[in-house]
Amino acid sequence: MVVLRLALPTPMRRVFDYLPPADIDPQTLVPGIRIRVPFGNRQLIGMLLDVSDHSEFPIHKLKAALEVLDNTPPLPAHLLDLARWAASYYQHPIGDALAQALPVMLRKGNACEYAHEHLWRACDGAVPEDAGKQAKKQQAMLALLIKHPQGISTDAIRAEGYRPELLKPLEEKALAERFIHHPHHANSERTENLIHEAPLTLNTQQSAALEEINSSDGFAPILLEGVTGSGKTEIYLQAIELQLSRGKQALVLVPEIGLTPQTVTRFKQRFNVPVVALHSNMSDRQRLDAWLDAREGEARIIIGTRSAIFTPMRAPGIIVVDEEHDASFKQQDGYRYSARDLAVLRAQREQIPVVLGSATPSLETLHNAQQGRYQWVRVTERAGHAKAPSFELLDTRNTHLQSGLSTPLIKKIGQTLEKGTQALVFINRRGFSPTLSCHDCGWIADCNRCDANMTLHRSPPHLHCHHCDKQTPIPARCGNCGSDQLKPVGAGTERTEDTLQKLFPDTPVLRIDRDTTQRKDAMAKMMAQIHSGEPCILVGTQMLAKGHHFPKVTLVAILNADSGLFSADFRGMERTAQLILQVAGRAGRADHPGSVVMQTNQADHPTLQHLVQMGYYAFAQQELIQRQNAQLPPFTHYALVRAEANGSGRAEAFLRAIREQMETDILMPEGVRWLGPFPSPMEKRAGMHRAQLLIQGNNRRHLHQLLDTLTHYLEQTKEARQVRWSIDVDPVDT
Ligand code: ADP
Ligand code: ZN
Ligand code: ZN
Repeated sequence: MVVLRLALPTPMRRVFDYLPPADIDPQTLVPGIRIRVPFGNRQLIGMLLDVSDHSEFPIHKLKAALEVLDNTPPLPAHLLDLARWAASYYQHPIGDALAQALPVMLRKGNACEYAHEHLWRACDGAVPEDAGKQAKKQQAMLALLIKHPQGISTDAIRAEGYRPELLKPLEEKALAERFIHHPHHANSERTENLIHEAPLTLNTQQSAALEEINSSDGFAPILLEGVTGSGKTEIYLQAIELQLSRGKQALVLVPEIGLTPQTVTRFKQRFNVPVVALHSNMSDRQRLDAWLDAREGEARIIIGTRSAIFTPMRAPGIIVVDEEHDASFKQQDGYRYSARDLAVLRAQREQIPVVLGSATPSLETLHNAQQGRYQWVRVTERAGHAKAPSFELLDTRNTHLQSGLSTPLIKKIGQTLEKGTQALVFINRRGFSPTLSCHDCGWIADCNRCDANMTLHRSPPHLHCHHCDKQTPIPARCGNCGSDQLKPVGAGTERTEDTLQKLFPDTPVLRIDRDTTQRKDAMAKMMAQIHSGEPCILVGTQMLAKGHHFPKVTLVAILNADSGLFSADFRGMERTAQLILQVAGRAGRADHPGSVVMQTNQADHPTLQHLVQMGYYAFAQQELIQRQNAQLPPFTHYALVRAEANGSGRAEAFLRAIREQMETDILMPEGVRWLGPFPSPMEKRAGMHRAQLLIQGNNRRHLHQLLDTLTHYLEQTKEARQVRWSIDVDPVDT
């Protein structure tokens, strides 16, 4: 008896038993291959987990699988194993988790092979006359084929005005032939020289860091803590060079590729080897080809965002996670895995070093380094001639602000431009103004689907809810008293851009936010203008904070970064500090000294003071002590159950019932506690009412014991079908 145990992409947390297709030799069935099966009235593509000799179900009730799609598993065994581990750790349905570890085309059942197309060409030595005197059309077709010795597709033949039906008689007369063409054709030429462009000479601190990374043998997790501009990328490049020289590959994870194309360019400029970038602007086909290049060892450097963590490598050499603190490494919906944490586990399985780089490491990673679980290298000075920027807190209490800009700040921007350099103004709100309010009665335009205001946008004019994406025209009159005195309150990027352009009419003002960078090449164009070095003002959101190197920016102004200081989330302070320092890090990165001006009405906030005077490291030490005292992560571990339902209070009641039921049924594992349920920070969002139940554990094993039981409860409970629930293990926002 042969029973196939399959993971199928369904929301169910279980595996499914099938019989093998009739004509298949069971010996060929290895875990990891894809199999097409009937499922209800549909077909699904699943992954084989095990071959068993029995089933819990009566054998006659099992259906037969339809088709085996692979001879060999797309994922190597250790990555399949990692993906299975992650599904269980993050409490996610196994079928969906495994599907997400594969490129989209493989999920859909396409062959695990490079793109190919069928082309036609003339046979050797054929001339049009061979088609015969009576066959003028065939002659013309043959002439066309002769004109395309590399081959031509039937689509192209049709586009030229010919009928592909004429190919058949030509094929029968052995005058034309069909062949398979691989347009992708990976560049597999091996060259002697790995390097295009000479590496920079490292300074003492950089050399020490590189030495530490390169001396590791086998698995080594390394925190590379290097201030902004300290030349972390150069260290990555040289560490990768060593691996390339050994014939190995490198995987580089970055928060966002579209916004920082320079990163990819730097790798391509340095190395004379195939570099592939996996990003969202690629077609599914291009992604599969790049993925195959990585798996076959053709691509030597693979750069990608979160989902690239599951990309197989034939000869893994090193993994780099750049900006490891970035929240985008944690998927925030559906399958909530952390690519950063999985990178460490993957490196362990592949017995290679993994470098976690950041100027502002997450407290989790810092804690791991302090506990000795990670090696820890620090680069405290900027590379080259660049110096750390000076910092100034500008108190805005009792001052007049012009669209959020104080008079001293406007003056400094003017001076910056006069010097021939560039200024960057950071404001963490896009749109024209965060609220539209009635001057007469105080009414505020809010979203009827969310506990949030509508943001006013001017180009094009509309109101937009940034939480549920609802968009409406701008009302002419107040929704409450009918007055026409509606006024924008507060400033977003559009308004700041507007005001700055009026103040500095002769200087280009470039706004960089999600609205201005949607077109494909928009970001590249603005980057080119910034890199031309002419004086200009950049206004933007945190898109500007991520990894950019702007040599001519000497002034960075931060307008409203203190808003996070009073967040209900215990990570609010950490996030604020990271954001401030990342934005500040754009100032003075080359020969010109930089300064940072932070406008705040919290100028005497002790944490802010400490951060500005002592830097991130000292801030983080203090923050860690507070976390320890309060028994918060990383000293304890969190999991969050989120629920949402139509109608107020239902999600919370559901979570309370689950908690009470479990409290009566089971003994809590040692050191595991419930906190809540509570309404979510934004209770209503997109029309749904939301609540959350936090579970805290002193150790992961006990926490996971509870989670396994809890998931089972949630799946079995009838009430659970009336709410939407999800589990988030190691959540990054609570
Ligand atoms: P980080 O990622 O740490 O913020 P980058 O890697 O972007 O910093 O480096 C900042 C700048 O310093 C880049 O222009 C880089 O070319 C330059 N740089 C890095 N290392 C050196 C070095 N050893 N000597 C001179 N310049 C360097
Ligand atoms: Zn009104
Ligand atoms: Zn909304």
